[in-house]
Amino acid sequence: MAISEAVKRINERIGEACLRAGRRPSEVRLMAVSKFHTLPEIEEAWQAGIRLFGENRVQEAAAKFADFRARHPGAELHLIGSLQRNKAKTAAAFFDLIQSVDREALIEELGTAAARRSEPLQVLLELHTGEDSKAGFPDTDSLCRAAERLLSCPALIPAGLMTMAPFTGDEGRIRASFRALRAAAERLSARFPEACWSCLSMGMSNDFEIAIEEGSTLVRIGTALFGERHT
Ligand SMILES: *Cc1c(COP(=O)(O)O)cnc(C)c1O
Repeated sequence: MAISEAVKRINERIGEACLRAGRRPSEVRLMAVSKFHTLPEIEEAWQAGIRLFGENRVQEAAAKFADFRARHPGAELHLIGSLQRNKAKTAAAFFDLIQSVDREALIEELGTAAARRSEPLQVLLELHTGEDSKAGFPDTDSLCRAAERLLSCPALIPAGLMTMAPFTGDEGRIRASFRALRAAAERLSARFPEACWSCLSMGMSNDFEIAIEEGSTLVRIGTALFGERHT
C-alpha cells in the first residue's frame, strides 16, 4: 500500500475508534514512527500530511532528520526509544520532546543538557505496564518521585506519560495496560496540579484502537503506515 493510502486508512480507523469512544478525532495525534525507514519514505509521509515523527535512536534520527527539519520547519520529532545518559546532550539539542524518560538519573542528565536550549525541553515519563522489555518506571510511586525531580528542573517541562502494552493477542491485558497509564496520569494530576500531564502516548499499529478507547491522545504508528521495517 502507498504511504498516502495508509495514512488515509489510519485516519479513518482513528475516526471510527473516536466515534465508538465518544471522543473527537482532534483529541488524538498521529505519530509516524520512522525508525529503520528511509528519508524518501519520511518525505512521502510528510506529503501525506504527517507532521509528527518518532525515532528510537538518537544517531539514526540525527542522520535522517537534520536536513529534513531544515526543509520542513513545521515537522515535530520525538524520541521514543530508550536513551543512554551519554547521548542525553545530543538528544536534548535535537528532539522537540523525549517520550522515553524511564529513570531518575536521566532526568538529571536531561535537565543539565536542556539548559542550553532556547526553550525548555518537553518530556513524557514512561511507565512500565506489562510489556516484555521492562522499560519504564515500575509503578506510580516511582513515577511520583520522578515527577518531583522533573518539576525541580527549570529546563524540563512534563507533558504527560507514555507506555507500551504487552505484545499479546489478549485484549484484556492490553486494555489493562492502557488503563494503568491513564490512572497514573490522574494520580499525577491530583498530586502535581501545577504541571500538565494531559498527553497519554499509547497505542501502536496492532493496538491503537484499543488505546484510543482507553484515552490515548497520541498514537505511535510504524508498521501500519510504512509497512515492515527495513532492518
Ligand atoms: C517501534 C515502536 C512503535 C511503532 O511500532 P509499530 O508496531 O510498528 O506501529 C511505537 N512505539 C515505540 C516505543 C516503538 O519502539
